[in-house]
Amino acid sequence: MSQRAELVKVIHFLHQKGWAPATSSNYSFREAGQSNFFVSQSGLDKGDFAEKHFLQVDPSGNPVDDARKPSAETLLHCAVYQLFPEARCVLHTHTVLNTVVSQLLETQGGIVLENYEILKGFSGIKTHEISVKIPIFANTQDIAELSIELAEFVRWNDSELRAFLIAGHGMYTWGNTIADAKRHVEVVEFLLECEYLKMKLKG
Ligand SMILES: [Zn+2]
Repeated sequence: MSQRAELVKVIHFLHQKGWAPATSSNYSFREAGQSNFFVSQSGLDKGDFAEKHFLQVDPSGNPVDDARKPSAETLLHCAVYQLFPEARCVLHTHTVLNTVVSQLLETQGGIVLENYEILKGFSGIKTHEISVKIPIFANTQDIAELSIELAEFVRWNDSELRAFLIAGHGMYTWGNTIADAKRHVEVVEFLLECEYLKMKLKG
């Protein structure tokens, strides 16, 4: 299966889960050895998303020979590909859980996930005896500014960052394959649900 077809399948899966409502969310993949990448066209219902809805952009997010508009958040994809040269796929979802939890915990600056077996779903993690911090950045329409904030975080805090949240907005994650990135979405959503349930039970 082509990467394009594989990612369309993943987008439909995420849409079906209710993780890409109201034309929100955006996705991209980068082919081996390329600096340009393919990102989802903006403003489409992700249930109808098809292979033709990807457009090629350069590493700065400018469309290559294409009059269509890439997603407004393409600059964050550019930042991830630049920070993580091995990354081949970036997925951004808007779920009820990641929207609410990121808003509630924004003042803490992040959420710490530890001692969960499913942390092994993150590439490179082999044990549950680990602590993974998912940072939460303030929401803004200034995506260039947010990209700088992300780059600074990776530089000073975590060169192995696997995902981040934007308060009241959503989640970004990526992987060295499309399958890795999809698994990372599932890991983060599963663990946010665990954390939410723990907060609720503890009161
Ligand atoms: Zn978004």
